[in-house]
Amino acid sequence: MARYAEFLNNLTRGFAIDMDNPVLLKAQYKAFSKQLPLMYFILLVNSWILTSTHMQSAPRWLVWDYPIGLTLICVIRFVFWFRTRNIEPTIDEARKALRRTNLIAGPIAMSFTIWAIMLFPYGDAYAQSHVAFYMGITVIGCIFCLMHLRPAALTTAAVVNISFVIFFASTGKPTFIATSVNVALVSATMLVILHVYYRDFTSLVDAQVHTEALSNDNLRLANMDSLTMLPNRRKFFTELYAFCLKAHSTGTRFAVGILDLDGFKPVNDLYGHSVGDKLLFAAGQRLQNLCDEETHLARLGGDEFALIITRAMDNDQLLAFGTTLCEALRQPFLIADTTIQIAASMGLVTYPDMAANATDLFEHADYALYQGKRNNRSMVSVFSTSHSNRIHLDANIEQALRKADFEQELEVYFQPIININTEQIVAFEALARWQSPVLGSVSPAQFIPIAERTGIINQQTRILLAKALAAAAKWPDHIRLSFNLSTHDLSSPNIIHQIVKIIDEADFDPRQLDLEITETAVMHDIDQAKWATEQIRQLGCGITLDDFGTGYSSLSQLHALSLSKIKIDRSFVTGIEKNPASLKIVKSLLALSRDMGLDCIIEGVETAEEMAVIREIGGTMVQGYIYSPPIPESAARLWIDHH
Ligand code: C2E
Ligand code: CA
Ligand code: CA
Repeated sequence: MARYAEFLNNLTRGFAIDMDNPVLLKAQYKAFSKQLPLMYFILLVNSWILTSTHMQSAPRWLVWDYPIGLTLICVIRFVFWFRTRNIEPTIDEARKALRRTNLIAGPIAMSFTIWAIMLFPYGDAYAQSHVAFYMGITVIGCIFCLMHLRPAALTTAAVVNISFVIFFASTGKPTFIATSVNVALVSATMLVILHVYYRDFTSLVDAQVHTEALSNDNLRLANMDSLTMLPNRRKFFTELYAFCLKAHSTGTRFAVGILDLDGFKPVNDLYGHSVGDKLLFAAGQRLQNLCDEETHLARLGGDEFALIITRAMDNDQLLAFGTTLCEALRQPFLIADTTIQIAASMGLVTYPDMAANATDLFEHADYALYQGKRNNRSMVSVFSTSHSNRIHLDANIEQALRKADFEQELEVYFQPIININTEQIVAFEALARWQSPVLGSVSPAQFIPIAERTGIINQQTRILLAKALAAAAKWPDHIRLSFNLSTHDLSSPNIIHQIVKIIDEADFDPRQLDLEITETAVMHDIDQAKWATEQIRQLGCGITLDDFGTGYSSLSQLHALSLSKIKIDRSFVTGIEKNPASLKIVKSLLALSRDMGLDCIIEGVETAEEMAVIREIGGTMVQGYIYSPPIPESAARLWIDHH
């Protein structure tokens, strides 16, 4: 009983189309459509050949009207197939077409079978054998052609064979009975082969689906950043190229932004990489929440993110959007029970006015970002004509730097640092001046960053330091020298050794020397900075933290460096008398330096009003145009003599 139920179950499964597998459906449809014309060809040609052997004996309606009717049905079906053969069907269409074929397979098989059986009585023994042969061979041909549509093949085989066996067995003639057994056996074998073939076909289609899914997965993974689950650098550039092409053909404008986290590296150093990773993930999520389908966010790597903004926005709107993103990242993060605060800066550029291709877009956004960071003006900067002029100028400066003879062309100027209580000179800060034979006098604010980028800075530092020490050796003993070191000097042990050697060999008391370093130099690599400053401290020199207040580092980290002085950045001093925020910052920085036991120099004091405020809040050491701009060595000597 159970076996019978199983047989029935298998049978019904065999007759049904697997409607849940759309890919299989389509593959079946395609394979079947290719064989359909062949099937109608066999069917019709065989039928008309059978007609021809009965033309003389059978009535007209059986040899003309009936077969013409059947031919017409087949031709209509064929024409229908012919018109749709090149159209890729939807899943639904494929499903409908296969269902339709399954449905009509039975009636068509039945019509031909009835027709053949009706012809049987009209012929002689040869013609009767022809009917048997026609039915047997045609059904095998049709089963072959229907092999991708198992239900139709089974229906056809069942209709023809059952009729065949019943009919020929009923003739009582042993030859026909034997023939019906032959045909039934061959048909059964064909069905078994078809079953195996169909199973292989199904698993082949499944395997294809699986392979495709796997390669889709690989593609997705290759384009995704596994840490933040955002699109990665590769995906960003693929999209960027695509957007450029599209915007070029449609003449539309779009923008590219690069966003960089400030103060991320210290988080990694301080709390470990797992917290750093979580922070990056959380930062990515915050950004993603502020993006829509017209803003494509990606993580480029490290603490850098990038955006392609396809919504039409003018520069002000872009600035506002960038500010929103950066502000969001300034809000504290709570990670592993620790509150972490970072900041972010962003550079933006628009296509096509400020960059005409993907490479320029990326480079200019990057340029705007770092220019913005350097100037500390704001968090977001949009690439402008002045940036592109600057790039041009930078290229000229770089060329001239590579050809320069620094011994000849570099000079050191000195700017006094005054104790405002005694009006005495405490020190001079050495500031580089470059007189290029090609470009004339170039400001250090312009050439130092380029020298840093190109690695020329170390050579300049050595020459400048030697020159500054030589000049300072002639000053009275109580006047100190303050000298600027670059981030790049600090990060190379080799240069530090050379600097130590120059100081050692100079005719100037190293205890009267201060080396100015910036926060970026420290944050670049805290351990290296610590090592470097220790080497310098061992000589007896002081370490001054320059441009203080502009970075984002925590004081506890800076404290590890054994600083001796801090210099409050000019940006807080300018207009301090009318800017309560600046006043508050300078006040608290002064208090902080006092708490930490550090001297504090206030830089960039230009006006009497600023000076009055500085006095009022207890500043003691001041450097600025109010006393003197940087001056040549000879002028510095005069200054000393007259103060
Ligand atoms: P810095 O180290 O912060 O130097 C102070 C800058 O502020 C100097 O500009 C100085 O002329 C200017 N300054 C001083 N008082 C005032 C003031 O009252 N008002 C205004 N508006 N400016 C004032 P300078 O000489 O153009 O140098 C620019 C920057 O170039 C320096 O900033 C420093 O970062 C770099 N630099 C200069 N010389 C050297 C050097 O020998 N080595 C290294 N590594 N960097 C140097
Ligand atoms: Ca300085
Ligand atoms: Ca400074």
